[in-house]
Amino acid sequence: MASSLTLARAVAQSLVAASSTPRPSRSVITSATVCAAPIGLRSSAHSSSSCFFAGSLAVNKLSPATRLVSVRAHGTGQIVASSNGSSAPLPGLPIDLRGKRAFIAGVADDQGFGWAIAKALASAGAEILVGTWVPALNIFESSLRRGKFDESRKLANGSMFDIAKVYPLDAVFDTPEDVPEDIKNNKRYAGSSKWTVQEVAESVKNDFGSIDILVHSLANGPEVTKPLLETSRKGYLAAISASSYSYVSLLKYFAPIMNPGSSSLSLTYLASERIIPGYGGGMSSAKAALESDTRVLAFEVGRKHGIRVNTISAGPLRSRAAKAIGFIDKMIEYSTANAPLTKELDSGDVGNAAAFLSSPLASAITGSVVYVDNGLNAMGLAVDSQSLVVEEAVKV
Ligand code: NAD
Repeated sequence: MASSLTLARAVAQSLVAASSTPRPSRSVITSATVCAAPIGLRSSAHSSSSCFFAGSLAVNKLSPATRLVSVRAHGTGQIVASSNGSSAPLPGLPIDLRGKRAFIAGVADDQGFGWAIAKALASAGAEILVGTWVPALNIFESSLRRGKFDESRKLANGSMFDIAKVYPLDAVFDTPEDVPEDIKNNKRYAGSSKWTVQEVAESVKNDFGSIDILVHSLANGPEVTKPLLETSRKGYLAAISASSYSYVSLLKYFAPIMNPGSSSLSLTYLASERIIPGYGGGMSSAKAALESDTRVLAFEVGRKHGIRVNTISAGPLRSRAAKAIGFIDKMIEYSTANAPLTKELDSGDVGNAAAFLSSPLASAITGSVVYVDNGLNAMGLAVDSQSLVVEEAVKV
C-alpha cells in the first residue's frame, strides 16, 4: 500500500508542478491504482494490503496555495486520499459514525441509492439495519447469503460491511389493521410477518433499543409511465402513498426510538419542481409532497425530538426502479451533456452526501433539499439543444 500511495503522491505532485503552466481547467489521470483510508476510517484501519479498486487523480485549477489533489475510488464516490503537495498528514475532519445505528428503508439489491447510502454509513462506522419490501425480500436475502453482493460489500480498506438485520417492510401500511385481505392472502407476503411500519419500528426497538439515522430510499408509482393527465386517481394516490406518506409514517413510528441529535433523510428528484416529461403517474407530485413534508417534518420532529430532516435531490442513476421507468439511459446521457459537471453520477456520491448529512458535521442542517446531481438543477437551458447549434455564446 505504501508504494501505491507513494506513487499516487508522486504523480499528484508532478501534476501540481506541471499545472503551473497554462492548461485546460482540469487534468485527469484515470486508472491509477491506489489504496487509502475511506472517509471516517482512521489510519490504523487501512493497513490492509489489498488494493482492489481503480482510482483517478484530479487536479483542480486553483491558486498554487490552495491547489488540492484528490484520489477518487471508482464505484464509491469516496475521496480516499488527498494532499496539498506536502507529505504532512491532514489534521482531519472525519465523518465518524461509530456507535451510531442506521435503519435504511428501501434496499433490495446493490444497484440503488439505499445500498450506496448503507455502504457509506458503514464506511463511517455505523451499524446497518435495512428494511426490504416484502415481495423482494426472499431474493434479496438469498442473494446476500449466496455472496452475490460480496464485491459491492467491499469497503475501501478491503473489509466487507455487514447488514446487522434485514426487516421485511411494506411502507404502504402503517399498522396491521390497515392490511387488506388480498395482501394478507397474497403468496408474496406468505412467510413474512410484522412488516407494517409500526411493527417494524417495534421490532427494531425490541432488537436494538434505538437508532440514530433513518433513511427513506423508496418510491413506487404504478402508473409512472403514464402522463399526469392520463393517470387514474387510484394510481396517483398509490404514488403519493408509497413515495411520500410512507416517509411521514416512518418518521412518526421511528422518531420515538431515535436518539436526540439523530438525523433523517429521504431521496427526491428534480421532477418535483421542474417539468420532466415521462416521469408521470403522479410521481412528480409525490416528490413535491416529499420536499414540502421535509420542511414541515423538520420543524415538527426538530422541536419534539431534536431530530434533523433533509432530503437529497439526486441525479439520474441506473437503479432497478429507474430502469422500470424506461428512459434512464437517456436521462443519464442528458445529464452528462448538459450539467455543469459532465461526469456520470456515482451512487457513492449520494452515499457520501448522506453520510455527511447524517453526521454531527451537519448538525445545523435541517429542512433542506440538498442537490447531489452534478449541478443539473442549476441549468436554465439544455446546452446540447439543436436550437442552440449556431449560438456560439452558450459554448463553454
Ligand atoms: P431502488 O430500486 O434501488 O429503490 C427503490 C426501493 O423501493 C426498492 O428496494 C423497492 O423494493 C422499494 N419499495 C417499493 N415500494 C415499497 C414499499 N411499499 N415498501 C417498502 N419498500 C418499497 O431505486 P432507487 O432509484 O435507488 O430509488 C431510491 C430512491 O431514490 C427513490 O425515492 C427514488 O425516487 C429516488 N431517486 C432515484 C433517482 C434515480 O435516477 N434512480 C433519482 C432521484 C431520486
